[in-house]
Amino acid sequence: MTVKAIFQELRSNGFIRKSKRCRWSPFVSNFKAGMLFRRTIFYNKKYDNLDDDTLRFALLHEEGHHRGRQYITLILIIDIAVIVSSILLVIWKANSARDMIEPIVWGLLPIYIWLLLASLKVFNKYIHEDEFEADAFAARILRDSYGIGKPSEIVDRTLKALAPKEKHDPIGYRLFRLLLGGLHPSDEERVRRIAETIDAERTRK
Ligand SMILES: [Zn+2]
Repeated sequence: MTVKAIFQELRSNGFIRKSKRCRWSPFVSNFKAGMLFRRTIFYNKKYDNLDDDTLRFALLHEEGHHRGRQYITLILIIDIAVIVSSILLVIWKANSARDMIEPIVWGLLPIYIWLLLASLKVFNKYIHEDEFEADAFAARILRDSYGIGKPSEIVDRTLKALAPKEKHDPIGYRLFRLLLGGLHPSDEERVRRIAETIDAERTRK
């Protein structure tokens, strides 16, 4: 089935919220839960030919990002609050010298960028938890409603299918990884976590 068809199926079964829609976007490399557009799951058409369980896992993982409490949201809210309050402080203090406001804010820009990057790096572990939680949400549905004995095998298959094929990452992405150390946990780690939790819970029953 196509991505759209699997999406409809999951939605009509109530695993994806009724208010959600699924949109093709050339800007996403595989699947992406909208950060601002929280009613949308974006996907790349080139994955239409993946098998049904792989697509179910990929879409449910993105739905999981919208369902769970995500640390990344909290981190970004704190960062934005710090930045906005510092700009307000500059405006307030420099109110009598209006032409000073702009150069000060521009001067602070490197600090703001550093703050954003540093907070993502420092809280990397928590951002990884966001991924594990989304994986667990998807794996649990595959196990309980689709009769998959070992969801970790589907996770493994999905991550392999979605891994970037080209050896040479764009320079921007490499720089991004260097600065942040990768916002995603390694694929092996993700498969292992699901094997230890979701797969294991079933064998215990
Ligand atoms: Zn994710």
